Parts: sequence; structure tokens; C-alpha cells
Amino acid sequence: MACPHLSYRESDADHDFDTERAYCTVVGRFVQPMRADVCNERYGLSPAADCEFYRDHHGLAWDESGAEAPGGGDDSKRSGTENSGAEES
Ligand code: SF4
Repeated sequence: MACPHLSYRESDADHDFDTERAYCTVVGRFVQPMRADVCNERYGLSPAADCEFYRDHHGLAWDESGAEAPGGGDDSKRSGTENSGAEES
């Protein structure tokens, strides 16, 4: 299985490649190889649990376990690999 938002393209407005590459239709850009593991559900990863773009797009709340929080909508505990680098202390 793969994320329903995963596409393969050779180009976009800013890039032109010789071969197709993983492209996320949610954020409208090519995905990095490590994220493509999530997109393709490799190694037990899944978009619903491990991708902030997928979760935001589907209105899923985010918590440390990746499970949907009761009531939803609060993303104050959201974490990810592409955050600003700010850490709570
Ligand atoms: S980046 Fe996230 S939303 Fe986009 S295709 Fe990959 S898993 Fe799906």
C-alpha cells in the first residue's frame, strides 16, 4: 500500500528530472527519500501515524503516540522531523 496522496512525476514548476520521483499532492512538492518510506508504508511506517502533512490534510489531531486525541484539533503537541527546531523545556 501507499499513501493516496503519493504520485510520481518527472517535473513540476521548479524541477525537471530524467526519471519519475515521489511527489506529494498535499504539499505540492517532491518528497525526500526518508519521507518516501512513510509515503510507501515501508518499515511499518504509515501516513496516518507518521506524516504531519497527511494528518493535517485529514484533520487528525497529533500526539506523541500518533493516535488521534479525543476531541481532536489540538496540534500543540505536534512533533515532526521538519519542525523549526524549537524544543519545549
Ligand atoms: S508526504 Fe505524507 S501526505 Fe504526502 S504522499 Fe507522503 S505520506 Fe502522503
